[in-house]
Amino acid sequence: MKTTQNDLPIMEVGNENIVLFHPHIAKNATKYVSETLETRWIGQGPKVERFEKEFSEKFCRGLNTVAVGSGTDALHLAYILAGLQPGDEVIAPVFTCTATNIPFLYMGVKIVFADVQKNTLNIDVEHVKELVNEKTKAIVCVHYGGLPCDMDEIHQVAKEWGIPVIEDAAHAPGSSYRGTPVGAISEFTMFSFQAIKHITTGDGGMLSIKDKSILAKAERIRWFGIDRCAKQQGNWENDIKEIGYKYQMTDIAAAIGLAALEEFDEISSHRRKLFEIYEQNLSDVDGLHFIGGGYTDRVHAAWLCTIIAEKRIDLQHKLREFNIESNQVHYRNDRYTILGGRRNNLPNMDAIEDKYLVLPLHTKLTEENVYHVCEVIKSGW
Ligand SMILES: *Cc1c(COP(=O)(O)O)cnc(C)c1O
Repeated sequence: MKTTQNDLPIMEVGNENIVLFHPHIAKNATKYVSETLETRWIGQGPKVERFEKEFSEKFCRGLNTVAVGSGTDALHLAYILAGLQPGDEVIAPVFTCTATNIPFLYMGVKIVFADVQKNTLNIDVEHVKELVNEKTKAIVCVHYGGLPCDMDEIHQVAKEWGIPVIEDAAHAPGSSYRGTPVGAISEFTMFSFQAIKHITTGDGGMLSIKDKSILAKAERIRWFGIDRCAKQQGNWENDIKEIGYKYQMTDIAAAIGLAALEEFDEISSHRRKLFEIYEQNLSDVDGLHFIGGGYTDRVHAAWLCTIIAEKRIDLQHKLREFNIESNQVHYRNDRYTILGGRRNNLPNMDAIEDKYLVLPLHTKLTEENVYHVCEVIKSGW
């Protein structure tokens, strides 16, 4: 692993610092959590069910949803439900949070990394077409920063080979692709409610599932493999026939999530506005390339604003002089030993890996803050 171009350490909040991320806690969260703490249900109870339903109506066109303890849980659950077996291959994104790929290691599934597109950092479907073969049992994609991947093209490959598509939509609630919301497109879509995502429940996740017939199985696997409804109705004779785990969400978390849904439209349009300011100001700067802008057939969820910058580390130092935090956030997953180590076989990823940089984007930022960041960048580095 290279150690020469380290990111800078995390910046403190305060002192006019423009930090990279900040959690968004909705106004009613405290109230709903304290109401929940007064009830009999603080673990998985009625609030989880309500959160699933409201989330599904808002983002997944009413598809079945299963709330879980993290986005990672949702992905692991999706991979199990997709029937992946030891020795199977999956085509997966190389540029993502490690959470996308780590569950495969538990399952003994072989990860085949696809390259990124240079303009979006999303999965490159042309490379997917080269990699797919009869051992491939699923295609996984991540909507990097909140820009939907080329879903029609991905689904065309998946259909040809009769395999499911699993979307990591951790960055993308509220986005859509050619009129369909991300959350209602593929066999499985995962969302994350980790601290700095659009919606946070502290930690949490959601899986939307297209095939209604596997919902009951999903719910069992979320809870050790036990049919929880039957158990609550007094049937203690339940056999366990599938290996499940403890993936469920708590009502405490769901209470925070329900409050977040009330504010989602507001926070989402604020994020989009900030993203737009970045895009307008940074699309035409020497030595810099703006990632994921200019699409008209899909809606960007504006989770990350990412640029490709020549002399990236110099720009980062310049921003830091002006109390602006920036960071690379995700790293190519194949740099990690557990994920196979780097093979220099992904030319687009190789070309940008020392050049991309993520700029501050969160609900505590004002439009003025973003104009200021743009001015600092435009003054050169
Ligand atoms: C945050 C994130 C995850 C993991 O979600 P957790 O809720 O932290 O488990 C997975 N994939 C991507 C792309 C993420 O950004």
